[in-house]
Amino acid sequence: MKFGWGGFGMDPGLDRENLAAIRDALPAGHQLMVDPGWYVDDGGRPRTRTADQIRTMLSILSDFQPYWVEDFVHPEDFGQYRSFKAEFPGLRFAAGEQQATIWDFRRLLTESDIDVLQPDLSRCGGLTVALALRAETDREIVTHSWLTDLLHAYSLHFLATLPSVTWVEFNVAQSELSRGACSSRLALEPDGTVAVRPESGSASRSTRISYDQS
Ligand SMILES: [Mg+2]
Repeated sequence: MKFGWGGFGMDPGLDRENLAAIRDALPAGHQLMVDPGWYVDDGGRPRTRTADQIRTMLSILSDFQPYWVEDFVHPEDFGQYRSFKAEFPGLRFAAGEQQATIWDFRRLLTESDIDVLQPDLSRCGGLTVALALRAETDREIVTHSWLTDLLHAYSLHFLATLPSVTWVEFNVAQSELSRGACSSRLALEPDGTVAVRPESGSASRSTRISYDQS
């Protein structure tokens, strides 16, 4: 399960309280991902967190051992990931949802110490870029697939090509925009997986992968 945004990283006491409540509510065996967002609302104006605010936030997060911490600095400030990784080597960082073109991902790969790459197929350049990225790295790839079943389905079919797949991001919002963009809706199976549907008329496949409930 993934949580975040909403002022995360601005009130250390509240962050710790929220994380403790989430951890208590998580069923055994479930992983926690945290996406604090890369900007906060400061009197109606968005701004990035200060380095000290990030440091405090990561220190609290370290106590909860999340599977990853996502996109907590400006998406083009790759160097900050590297410096915070040096300070918090026990945390895994995920990023890439804002990146476009293979050149942008190459910079992310070489200028940061990201553990998980999150190409968004509707932004990065689609399958062309995602497949190029897959060929250039053996780091974990989990597509960013927020909002609609259209993007969920696109992402599922890319993820199913990976030699080793961990998660698919699956937004569980029930709005008509999220669930109504496709004529047939995708759904979570009771065991928390999402089926990769065969093309209509083709032989059925039983491939299933785990999901990230965001
Ligand atoms: Mg994100």
